[in-house]
Amino acid sequence: MRIDVLGVGFDNLTMDEAVEQGTALLHTEGAHYVVTPNPEIVEVCRENPAACAAVNGADLVLPDGIGVIKGAAMLGTPLKEKTPGIEFASRMMEKMAEAGKSLYLLGAKPGVAETAGKNLAAQYPGLKIAGTHDGYFKDDAPIVADIAQSGADAVFVCLGAPKQELWMAKYGAATGAHLLCGLGGSLDIFSGVSERAPEFWTKHGLEWFYRLCKEPSRFGRMMKLPLFLVHVRQEKGKRK
Ligand code: UDP
Repeated sequence: MRIDVLGVGFDNLTMDEAVEQGTALLHTEGAHYVVTPNPEIVEVCRENPAACAAVNGADLVLPDGIGVIKGAAMLGTPLKEKTPGIEFASRMMEKMAEAGKSLYLLGAKPGVAETAGKNLAAQYPGLKIAGTHDGYFKDDAPIVADIAQSGADAVFVCLGAPKQELWMAKYGAATGAHLLCGLGGSLDIFSGVSERAPEFWTKHGLEWFYRLCKEPSRFGRMMKLPLFLVHVRQEKGKRK
């Protein structure tokens, strides 16, 4: 049973369990998709029913950061641990490399997915990069066809939220891939265009603050975090 945090149902899994389930989905017929919502996405889901349906329709809904973990604990229904998308993706690539699976990288600015692909192929020997495409396309059909033609087993869909969740819900099956993962800005990190926060910040649940300092333009978006906490408090009051 999923744990509800303001209308988004999260799977209550450790990172090891999430990777185990992700790997099982990769080897199961049909298309499956994984989302990794943070408080900002939960807030988007509160206002956007289509985004909410796409997020809750995923086969795995993993809490990306400390905010969701705190929210679930405040509601009296704690989640086991945070399972950040980028760490989940890295662990999944180890599994894909072991099994000789192929991965398509979709998203980010032109050239970024290609560089990420080169880096990841070097980092995970055995992993096949089936193809790449930037995330600034107009028509979906040629992209879906390119993925299908590549024969990719998995796709990292990095178009930002909620675009990537809606995209996976709509086109996942047509790509022919077994596993699609919505991973926000991960290709920027895998390509070296941006850096992930150092361990000190991630360990102490301060990755959001690190990103805010590095990219002050995110301030508007980050105001969703205190709003999320206000909404969690209100929900807690209602549940009493
Ligand atoms: N992006 C894209 N197509 C779009 C809008 C965004 O490919 O139409 C990419 C953008 O270049 C970035 C990623 O999606 O690489 C979103 O990154 P963001 O930092 O917003 O995601 P987060 O990691 O915070 O979820």
